[in-house]
Amino acid sequence: MSYNPVTKDIITALKSIVGNEYVNDSVPMRYAYVSKGIMGLESIPAEVIVRPRYVEEVRKILVLANENKIPVTPVAGGLSGGFASPLISPSGILLDLSRMDRIVEVDTDCRYMVVEPGVRSGTVWAYFRKHYPDWAPPVPDGAPPAATVLGDALERGFSMVTGRYGPQADMVLGAEVVVPTGDVLYTGSWALPGAKPFYKWGLGPDIGGLFLGAQGTMGVVTKAAVKIVPHPHFKTVVAYGMDNPYDMQDATLEVSKYEMGIADHCVMVQGGNWPLVMTRWPEDKVPKDYEFYKKLGISEWWMNFEIWAHSQEELDFVCKRIDEIMKSYESRTGHKLPQWKLHPKQIASRLKKPNKIAIPYSLWNAGFLFITWYTPWKDCAEFAEIYNEKMVEYGFPPVMWIASIDHCRQAICMPIVCFDASKPGDVDKVQELNRETTEIFLDKGWVEYRPDPYVHAPMMYSRAKTYHEYLKKIRAIWDPNYIMHPGRLAIP
Ligand SMILES: Cc1cc2nc3c(=O)[nH]c(=O)nc-3n(C[C@H](O)[C@H](O)[C@H](O)COP(=O)(O)OP(=O)(O)OC[C@H]3O[C@@H](n4cnc5c(N)ncnc54)[C@H](O)[C@@H]3O)c2cc1C
Repeated sequence: MSYNPVTKDIITALKSIVGNEYVNDSVPMRYAYVSKGIMGLESIPAEVIVRPRYVEEVRKILVLANENKIPVTPVAGGLSGGFASPLISPSGILLDLSRMDRIVEVDTDCRYMVVEPGVRSGTVWAYFRKHYPDWAPPVPDGAPPAATVLGDALERGFSMVTGRYGPQADMVLGAEVVVPTGDVLYTGSWALPGAKPFYKWGLGPDIGGLFLGAQGTMGVVTKAAVKIVPHPHFKTVVAYGMDNPYDMQDATLEVSKYEMGIADHCVMVQGGNWPLVMTRWPEDKVPKDYEFYKKLGISEWWMNFEIWAHSQEELDFVCKRIDEIMKSYESRTGHKLPQWKLHPKQIASRLKKPNKIAIPYSLWNAGFLFITWYTPWKDCAEFAEIYNEKMVEYGFPPVMWIASIDHCRQAICMPIVCFDASKPGDVDKVQELNRETTEIFLDKGWVEYRPDPYVHAPMMYSRAKTYHEYLKKIRAIWDPNYIMHPGRLAIP
């Protein structure tokens, strides 16, 4: 593919669409967006930043870019870690959607909210606390409050209720999408003029799924209807320790299979290993041997169950049943699963949303990368074992975080690679580790959460050629010049 650079005439045309103050091609501003994408190993600055406010402005920008073959990269909160930054040169327009920040509608009967792409997790959480305290928007659990609900849904990420409701894309009931040909598409029941976005599967075959997981390559989503969930006020977190990932996997699965009852109260089920604690501090400030953490009462592996219930009685019942299942597992296997008595402050900090628990990883060595995979739950321990061994081989601390998706039907497995971005060779080492493990995991049939353009996507699509061909053909219907975020998913 070849693209054209952004010229002075294009900048003038962009200014006439959104207004002078919302078009910026200054060098510091262009680089500021790259530095925000902390995990974007391959990102480059856009030629110009454009900040529309209305759907019609987005439409005119896409038509202009399409006619002139200029790449467009949409960005909502920009915290997917560099995935919302351009990759190719000329890099074209960065379409910053943060001014489109309206909470358009909340429907507590059909149980959805309609939000624009700039609605941030922190904002929508506070809005619901104030106006709809009995309902909760599914914000991502560990992402910074400045990340957006829509960005997370488009990424098919994991929210604070993913253990109960599935990946974030499952929460999307419909979307309004602007495509480069200038059309505005609606998905789900929304496609029928006058209908509410109450039914995801809409008018016959569903095209909505094509925009989820597309990483900005299919069009610009300007609104989405996202499910909201009940927000009962009796909550706690219970945790159990293990000395190996297999007991963590198997005992958690036993709890999660009680899905008509107690497991439905477990909104977030997530755990990991002791280096998760260590690597939230600067490398030279904390001990690195497990004995130190053991003395603090931290198990080698653990699993947290965040429980929401409508009454104290219900909450107590769920906690008691989880404990009984854990004890029964212990007596059948002879393996120890001690309950980790959490301090009330630990529980309160875990229950606080949006949770900021993942932010400090940058302290360890100034660089970190989440390399996240989906596996069947029953494979997550094997995943952890392989990845931890490889991280140690490559000289990185073996940091592993694992969470349940939809009652442990799937696992979201997230090694956190803490590296030193300023050290020559460290980035290459990260990508070599990524390449080697991707080869192993694709052989096992495991799937990347947000495929990287240079490692995962090419390796994955080289094995799924027909699927890849059809994705390209479908995309060409509404993006004939492939201007949307070119290079991102290798389509093309
Ligand atoms: C410290 C940290 C912790 C995190 N914890 C979590 C977590 O707990 N759960 C989780 O799921 N994720 C987590 N993430 C990943 C990420 O922050 C979230 O998925 C986040 O919600 C993404 O939203 P965003 O607004 O930042 O998206 P962006 O980065 O702006 O965009 C995400 C992708 O979608 C595309 N895009 C954005 N807007 C549009 C649009 N309107 N139309 C079409 N394409 C678009 C972009 O080009 C990009 O490819 C974490 C990230 C960090 C840095």
